Amino acid sequence: MKAHDGLYIDGAWRPAAGEGVIEVVNPVDEQVIGRVPAGDAADVDTAVRAARAALPAWAATPPAARAARLAALRDVLAARKDEIAETVTAELGSPLPFSQLVHAGVPIAVAGSYAELAATLPFEEKVGNSVVHQEPVGVVGAITPWNYPLHQIVAKVAPALAAGCTVVLKPAENTPLTAQLFAEAADEAGLPAGVFNLVTGLGPVAGQALAEHPDVDLVSFTGSTAVGKRIGAVAGGAVKRVALELGGKSANVILPSADLAKAVGVGVANVMSNSGQTCSAWTRMLVHTDQYDEAVELAVAAAAKYGERIGPVVSARQQERVRGYIEKGVEEGARLVAGGPESPRDKGWFVSPTVFADVTPEMTIAQEEIFGPVLTILRYEDEEDALRIANGTVYGLAGAVWAGDEAEAVAFARRMDTGQVDINGGRFNPLAPFGGYKQSGVGRELGAHGLAEYLQTKSLQF
Ligand code: NAP
Ligand code: MG
Repeated sequence: MKAHDGLYIDGAWRPAAGEGVIEVVNPVDEQVIGRVPAGDAADVDTAVRAARAALPAWAATPPAARAARLAALRDVLAARKDEIAETVTAELGSPLPFSQLVHAGVPIAVAGSYAELAATLPFEEKVGNSVVHQEPVGVVGAITPWNYPLHQIVAKVAPALAAGCTVVLKPAENTPLTAQLFAEAADEAGLPAGVFNLVTGLGPVAGQALAEHPDVDLVSFTGSTAVGKRIGAVAGGAVKRVALELGGKSANVILPSADLAKAVGVGVANVMSNSGQTCSAWTRMLVHTDQYDEAVELAVAAAAKYGERIGPVVSARQQERVRGYIEKGVEEGARLVAGGPESPRDKGWFVSPTVFADVTPEMTIAQEEIFGPVLTILRYEDEEDALRIANGTVYGLAGAVWAGDEAEAVAFARRMDTGQVDINGGRFNPLAPFGGYKQSGVGRELGAHGLAEYLQTKSLQF
């Protein structure tokens, strides 16, 4: 894998002030595949200065011209689609077809959506005797995780650039090569120097310096709730804008009238996809007591199909974390019906597709985000009980409802405390706002709502 030994700042690859190095490791065979610099606070400061210097000209660039740069960015990403997929597979470990379809495909679509939105959004509107202008918030600090490495970068950088903001990105230490590839694409797309800057580095060093930097106007973070809370506190203290996209423990509610086999099959696939490392994964399956045993059998059969196909989790640390949760589930009395804590291979950070039955709502595995291929199946007595269980966690990011009648599913979905619900297997929509109720986050990504995060209003009265 190609790795730059510099940071992309002010339109060029430059040596880092920080002397540390991050080794990038392939989760399938544990081999080092590249080394990137670990930038420090001085590097973050250099990058923020570059972003600040570039801001006035970029903010004043007509939206149609910004849209043209975003369209060019989409085209470069599309032209380098195979390379993107190979890079994500190498550093995240996801199977190549999934990397092509999702890890490369989705960000290309999202970049395209912001090229369109930048070209069509009215950046001013008349309200009575006022004209309200939508202006960029300013310099954005973006901090991203490794689980959908390019998607999470594009879901922040594309709307920020569409709005007229400039950006400093600190990507996850596990997946910096994908971030470097994105920086190359931004360069090839002809973004002016300083509009996009990349500082690879460690969270508590480069990430923290970025969140705390006084000249960053908005911090957009995706990752763990623990780090998100700290970033929210830092941003609040400095009266900075903040967007937080945190974890989830989403419910897949199968109502008695649903097509059970389909709902269980899609539900298992949803959890096992990306080795369970998806913040919106439906990790709690809720089944009516009368259909419970049949659903468990169906889930076990579905999970068995993933044994060979599933990729590893991202790191040894993540593998340990997931194992710890599986052991905890057994300790707390849940019934292990597929998988388990033992690694299915002697090399690589693999976890067996795991299913727990007889899970009760207060168990740790029904409350905390595991971020691995682990499904919990819970029993409900009636619809009110199902709703109470579905809403009974600190999270509220996504979910699903299945019913024989669409209106019945919609009525239930409207009572769920969560930001997205898929009705009878509804498809992912890259234009629909994505974000959390409760502790799943603050703010929305994607589509026009995602763009609004990077805008502030100015009213002129006449
Ligand atoms: P994380 O530590 O929250 O990482 C997310 C990003 O924040 C990374 O770029 C990370 O850098 C950075 N970061 C870490 N500490 C920071 C700090 N003090 N200040 C500023 N930035 C900081 O998440 P993780 O350790 O990769 O994963 C832990 C758990 O978080 C997972 O098991 C999962 O439950 C959850 N998670 C959720 C999502 C999601 O999409 N909602 C994504 C990933 C993880 P480093 O990469 O250097 O740590
Ligand atoms: Mg971390």
